[in-house]
Amino acid sequence: MSNENRVIVVGAGPAGSSTAMGALRAGAAVTIIDRKTNVGIPVQCGEAIGKTGPGLAEINVPDESIRASVRGFRVYSPGQITVDYAEKEPSGYIVDRRVFDKELFARATEAGADSLLGARVLDITRSNGVVTGVIVRHDGRRNTLKAKVVIGADGVNSQIARLTGLRKSYKPADIDSCFAYEMANSELEVTDLMEFLLGNEVSPRGYIWIFPKGNGRANVGIGIGGTVKTKTAKEYLDHFLKHHDVAKRQLSQAKVIETRVGALPVCGPNKKNVVDGALLVGDSAGHVHPITGGGMGYAMVCGNIAGRVAAECIMKEQVSAKHLQKYEDEWRKIYGSEFEQSLKLRELILKTDDATLDKLAGIVTGESIVRMTAGKKVKIFMKAMATGDKHLIALMNELRKLRMV
Ligand SMILES: Cc1cc2nc3c(=O)[nH]c(=O)nc-3n(C[C@H](O)[C@H](O)[C@H](O)COP(=O)(O)OP(=O)(O)OC[C@H]3O[C@@H](n4cnc5c(N)ncnc54)[C@H](O)[C@@H]3O)c2cc1C
Repeated sequence: MSNENRVIVVGAGPAGSSTAMGALRAGAAVTIIDRKTNVGIPVQCGEAIGKTGPGLAEINVPDESIRASVRGFRVYSPGQITVDYAEKEPSGYIVDRRVFDKELFARATEAGADSLLGARVLDITRSNGVVTGVIVRHDGRRNTLKAKVVIGADGVNSQIARLTGLRKSYKPADIDSCFAYEMANSELEVTDLMEFLLGNEVSPRGYIWIFPKGNGRANVGIGIGGTVKTKTAKEYLDHFLKHHDVAKRQLSQAKVIETRVGALPVCGPNKKNVVDGALLVGDSAGHVHPITGGGMGYAMVCGNIAGRVAAECIMKEQVSAKHLQKYEDEWRKIYGSEFEQSLKLRELILKTDDATLDKLAGIVTGESIVRMTAGKKVKIFMKAMATGDKHLIALMNELRKLRMV
């Protein structure tokens, strides 16, 4: 395979390795570049990934990375009304991202991808406006690497997004600021459900998560809105662990074995993710669910599409934005309306006070939460009307405008 047909993938996270696999399968040569020397480290994740849902059946979660299976979730409203959702069979996993990312990267490498680790992409090269490669710093030297298509899978602070002009950088309102612990000696009440806690007191403009990781381990974290200035995410999480009933019941004996920080884009995908000779995927494209904050599954499904379409375009010698648009069209067909609706729902939830969220928790089922976060319609309007609560009814009217009730 000559360099003529090469795709350069910047980033060896789930998006990058999946993109590489998609491109290799479709016949392109691939080089994956990452500034890290050890893929998957440090972990900046709650490590939950679904296995049911659009597109997910086709992704192959590495067995070696699975630490626990989960069947659903338990949501705590601000006033601690719980809503459970559990499927009969496991519907997702808590993985070890160290192993997960490394295995995906190893698969791509074993399938034929070249890689350059410890190489930071500094710039892109262009010819007649078309992206033709990247400039990297590696071993203290600047090198130019040429490619037919450059794919930015370089995460939330994507350099490729900035350099291509597809997005400057996320504004504070666009991101959640996250802080998390992996803990040992937890005493979780449910070990096959993921727990989420909502409320302005515990996690303004976000939520706290407690994910079971097997053998008494738990991932416990928080995402708060990037505009929240009252306290830091760490302060909110530490306060929760010390004072909240849910934490006292389940985590009073738990000990921190790892600390994690990071940012999550929660503003929905970029309007545009392709330019002549380049495209974006994963966090760099905003492929993160605006409510759940999940990004791994979307990164993998969209990555596969990105790699395949890039390879097909290379084979046809047509790498303009017009031709790479096929990638945008394909992933938007699967996730476009889910992202769009859940972004609107997120904005609505953020405007809703804690007391109304408690009332909402009193009338929703786990199934309706699943449907709503997927942007689908639910039948709760009549129940809300029956409460006679004017704030809940006002919320229903807003949901009606979104065609969600
Ligand atoms: C605290 C936290 C908890 C989360 N929990 C979950 C969860 O439970 N489930 C879930 O699905 N999602 C979760 N997410 C989101 C999830 O981690 C991301 O959506 C996912 O990692 C995106 O994958 P990616 O490949 O696009 O980016 P990343 O995994 O961020 O990979 C990007 C890669 O690009 C490399 N890179 C960046 N810039 C350059 C450069 N200039 N040159 C070379 N290499 C570069 C980086 O080193 C990195 O390896 C969480 C995020 C955070 C912050």
